[in-house]
Amino acid sequence: MSVSILIVEDEEDLATLLRYNLEAKGFEVFEASDGELATQLLQENPPDLILLDWMLPQISGIELCRRWRKDKKTSSIPIIMLTARGEETDRVRGFATGADDYVVKPFSVLELLARIDALLRRTSPKLLSSKIIAGDIELDRENFRVLRAGKEIHLGPKEYRLLEFFMSHVGRVHSREKLLNNVWGADVYIDDRTVDVHIARLRKSLTENKSLTKDKQVDPIRTVRGAGYAFDEKF
Ligand code: CA
Repeated sequence: MSVSILIVEDEEDLATLLRYNLEAKGFEVFEASDGELATQLLQENPPDLILLDWMLPQISGIELCRRWRKDKKTSSIPIIMLTARGEETDRVRGFATGADDYVVKPFSVLELLARIDALLRRTSPKLLSSKIIAGDIELDRENFRVLRAGKEIHLGPKEYRLLEFFMSHVGRVHSREKLLNNVWGADVYIDDRTVDVHIARLRKSLTENKSLTKDKQVDPIRTVRGAGYAFDEKF
């Protein structure tokens, strides 16, 4: 199960930058460009944390924060406010009672990531456990170990990163480009077919393992024609 974050931000470039960096960290990201859409997303699928821009069209971030705090369903979701420099700092401090933390734009992504990490550790320490479990596969990020049905699986570094990314986004379809960006990095030039090669290796390691019984040698990776790959939980 991955940690989900809702970004409420009307500046598209910033929202994209945040999404990219958060996804690279293994977070599941939802985006809303205004309060109405955000409120709708919150009702449908409450995230583990909200990044909330102060200056939004129609309803301001502060007002949204107030409303969500009053609603039982959303009152306990941690909120980090994103504010522009120059917006009255005292007021920012004032509403910090509603929001859990705030960062002043322009902020460094690393600082924001550190604050998210700190806030999640405070509010939901269980979410940041070093182990990801999906189906019969367990990935231990601290020791870089992978177990399937309790048996150790040995993977190369790229296969490990691919699996980590898949397991953080169970059921979602990822394009080869997205996998490349997340596993190899956005500025590296690598052919799309490289992804296929590593997916094939990962599949082989996860299925053709002598210590696994036949019924456990099920391929959890799904090829989606024309779209990419997805990872499904197998038990
Ligand atoms: Ca804004």
